This record gives sequence, structure tokens and C-alpha cells, in this order.
Amino acid sequence: MPATPAWPPNTLPRLHLAQPLAQDAHIILDGPPANYLGTVLRLKPGAQVKLFDDRTGEWLAEVATVERRAVTITITRHLRDREPVPDLWLLAAPIKKGRIDWLIEKACELGVARIVPVLTRRTIVDRLNHDRLHAHLVEAAEQCGRTALPELAELTPLDTLLRAWPTDRQLLFADETGGQPLPAAARRGPAAILIGPEGGFTPEERDSIRAIPQATGVTLGPRILRADTAMAAAVALWMAHAGDW
Ligand code: SAH
Repeated sequence: MPATPAWPPNTLPRLHLAQPLAQDAHIILDGPPANYLGTVLRLKPGAQVKLFDDRTGEWLAEVATVERRAVTITITRHLRDREPVPDLWLLAAPIKKGRIDWLIEKACELGVARIVPVLTRRTIVDRLNHDRLHAHLVEAAEQCGRTALPELAELTPLDTLLRAWPTDRQLLFADETGGQPLPAAARRGPAAILIGPEGGFTPEERDSIRAIPQATGVTLGPRILRADTAMAAAVALWMAHAGDW
């Protein structure tokens, strides 16, 4: 039996809009969304697009008019509800520019609910362009079909996070000097995975993390992984054992 082609086709353009979407709504787009649909994709009236707003799920919409600076669309059909998202935070020390984009994209695809860039002693990046990173996150979510947008926190010092650690959230910190295997340590419920910078955690940082009652040091195997590889491995392991895979 030939597989029935997915409808609407996955090839339709997909856009995140920060405004709430509803059946039959007429939306006037300007700025980047209008430019993307009208100028980049050169869509004509009648063309279909998928929209999601990180609240009501995903909708099918039809282009009504295309002008130089504005595109109007009409929402025609609700396609999916907003996905349930496992309550997993990713705390990662920012790494070099190109790689942090990759890290953000993969965390988004893997289903992370919240990304917190963490400033640690050996973090080589001491400031982040939050808007640029957030735009990259939105693009990743648009491309990988997510209907829930991971939250991107501001760059936060490690000790600020540890001082106010939520009592109900398990903290799995990837410790390159050794720890429990992640699958054995991961428990269901609110969780966070902490990944250090290229230079690793300092001994003092390791002590202050281990001092948190909710924290468990976990190993990601006998080989040292790059921080972005460690993130992908840790999140995948968590999703498979305590998430929704
Ligand atoms: N400079 C350190 C390695 C840092 S790797 C050294 O050479 O020892 C960057 C981060 O990835 C680490 O802080 C840790 O959070 C994570 N990581 C890398 N390999 C790991 C492993 N085998 N087990 C657990 N965490 C690991």
C-alpha cells in the first residue's frame, strides 16, 4: 500500500509568529516575515504556509495579498496542538560562535524546553548576542517542525543558578572526571543537564555543583567529548530514559 503522502506537504514554508493564531484570522505581516514570504520565497496569493505561535499549535494559512512591505494571510485550518515538552533545561557554557549555533539548533531538535547559557570560570565567551541566538533558535524550530519554542534565557553566572536551584529539579552535571552513568541517574520529573565549557569545570566549581542536594555528577563515557557533542549525547540519553522518546 503506497504511503499516502503527508498532507499538507512538509515542504510548505513554516513560520513562527509571536502573536496568537486562530481560525479564520486575517493577519497582516510586515518586516522579516513579510520579506521572507513575499521577497525571498516570492509567494503569490493562494500559496499555503504553516504557522505556529508556541501557544495554540500549528495552523495552515493562505496568502491573501502580497505587497512590497506587507503580506496578508488568512488562517484556514488547525493542523496540530502545541506539543507536550519534557521539562528538561539545558545549562551550557557558551562556546565559540559557530558551534554555539549548532548546539542551540540540536538542543531545539532534541526537544529541550529551556536553554540557559551559563557563565563559568573557564567560559571563553563572556557575552552573548541574545537576539541573534534567539533568531537562530526560532529558525531551528521552524525547520524541525516544533510547535513549542524552547525558551532561551540570558547568560547567567553558574553560582547565581546554583544559589537559587529549584528544589524539585534534578541537576545532572556532565562531569568529565567521572560520575554515574546518566541513564542510571536520570529520574522522571523536572531536570536540567549542565555542560561545561571547552576548558571544563574548575575543582571549586565541581565542589559547588556537587554541594547542591539535587545534583548528580554523570559520566558520558571514557572519552572526552567536545562540549557540543556532550550536550547532544546527554540530552539524547535523558530523552530516551526520562523523556518522551
Ligand atoms: N577541558 C576538559 C574537557 C572539557 S569538555 C578536559 O580536557 O578534561 C567540555 C564539557 O563537556 C565538560 O565540562 C563536560 O561537561 C562535558 N564532557 C565532555 N566529555 C565528557 C565525559 N566523557 N563525561 C561527562 N561529561 C563530559
